[in-house]
Amino acid sequence: MEIDGFRGQLITADHADYDTARAVWNGAVDRRPRLIARCSGTADVAAAVCFARDHDLEIAVRGGGHNVAGTAVCDDGIVIDLSAMRAVWVDPAGRTAQVQGGALWGDVDHETQAHGLATTGGIVGHTGVAGLTLGGGIGFLMRTHGLTVDNLLAAEVVTAEGSIVRASADEHSDLFWALRGGGGNFGVVASFRFALHPVGPTVIAGPVFWAADDTTDVLRFYRDFAADAPDELGTVVRLGTVPPLPVIPEDMHWRPAIAIACCYAGAIEDGERAVRTLRRLGKPLLDLISPTPYVAHQCALDGTVLHGWHYYWKSTNLAGLSDDAIAVIADHAYSASSPRSYSAMFHMGGAVGRVPHDATAYAGRDVAHNIIIDGVWLPDESGEHAAAETAWARRFLQALHPHRADSVYVNFLDSDDDTSRVRESYGDHIYRRLAEIKAKYDPDNAFHHNKNIRPG
Ligand SMILES: Cc1cc2nc3c(=O)[nH]c(=O)nc-3n(C[C@H](O)[C@H](O)[C@H](O)COP(=O)(O)OP(=O)(O)OC[C@H]3O[C@@H](n4cnc5c(N)ncnc54)[C@H](O)[C@@H]3O)c2cc1C
Repeated sequence: MEIDGFRGQLITADHADYDTARAVWNGAVDRRPRLIARCSGTADVAAAVCFARDHDLEIAVRGGGHNVAGTAVCDDGIVIDLSAMRAVWVDPAGRTAQVQGGALWGDVDHETQAHGLATTGGIVGHTGVAGLTLGGGIGFLMRTHGLTVDNLLAAEVVTAEGSIVRASADEHSDLFWALRGGGGNFGVVASFRFALHPVGPTVIAGPVFWAADDTTDVLRFYRDFAADAPDELGTVVRLGTVPPLPVIPEDMHWRPAIAIACCYAGAIEDGERAVRTLRRLGKPLLDLISPTPYVAHQCALDGTVLHGWHYYWKSTNLAGLSDDAIAVIADHAYSASSPRSYSAMFHMGGAVGRVPHDATAYAGRDVAHNIIIDGVWLPDESGEHAAAETAWARRFLQALHPHRADSVYVNFLDSDDDTSRVRESYGDHIYRRLAEIKAKYDPDNAFHHNKNIRPG
């Protein structure tokens, strides 16, 4: 098979790399595309889109390949694969970075931190920039510097017609609005331009662990601690077991525990002050908060969520952390069968909440906490494990029902049983506007292997 004007790599089922090229982060996803078009640049992306449209092929678009639902790969169609497009160019004077559409957050942090700069990215280094950005982008820096989309200055987009356009506040501003939360519905983003900020390079960061039995006390304390926290302090609560990382003593590995991971985006002394009361709470099992290179902190969790393991997710934004909500969390968080399953709560607020609700397509700016429930099992574990972890995640979400806000972060939605929740991610007003913009840029819904917005 050939594509006119395409200079990248074309991979079909008879190619030695086919199985590696069709694999995504979630090993439970097993799809067999007819063709994987591994692009070497924007022109290849445009050629691949034109080819797919001319041949009426299903299209999936792969950035980092990290979405739990596996929408980066499709059966029988073409995968427009940007995984070879990972370059990051930093302009230190202008404090911006140009990032190709297949880059991972580890790539961005590595290049930007060489200049003591950063932008809000995800909390795992091997997550893709593209999918994360297009859904909104939450991470440790968001309370100081806003969501990833709040730092997006421009994007180079290949549209469903195969045209290359630039979207920014001044050019295709409707498309630019939709890209900031509306996902991969509007075209293939070949590159992004982000605003950068001075961060670190050394920051106060790391987790504190307490025994699972202390969960209620820790979360009640955390509710007030988080509400009073300065914007510079980003925190994520992780409930499950102590991960078997090299920095953690072996006798602690796999013990049921709650951890609060911190990152202070400001002066070291201010950071030490901001986390002081947290570190004094109860009797921590382990306190790993210390002055840490930001770039090391950003990949500290990489070994806890490996490529090829099997995953099933449930998520919701929370209306608050009432005593009742905390009781539900403490009851369910440790009842998964697999020691690898866990849940995580991000503390939102700060700069996220100061951006007007309809300034971008990201909804849920008024929410203080969300939760993601991650069932995990190994590829060689039996169907029973899959069923048990899936049931646990569903049960946990169901129990949280009375404590849910009316929204969910679109990037945390899983596959089939979450399809109907895409509208819930946006709310009616934002969804309707997205559907209108979809009708303008992709009226045939060529880009539908995603959290789909139907042309309206
Ligand atoms: C372990 C883990 C940790 C995570 N942590 C965070 C976090 O801290 N913060 C957060 O906000 N999210 C987080 N996420 C969720 C993450 O935002 C999504 O999984 C996101 O889809 C990942 O982007 P990707 O490019 O790797 O995805 P892919 O699977 O490659 O793509 C997902 C979808 O995005 C679209 N897409 C991808 N690339 C492009 C492109 N270049 N142009 C147009 N559309 C494209 C396509 O529709 C595609 O189906 C995490 C996910 C995982 C698995």
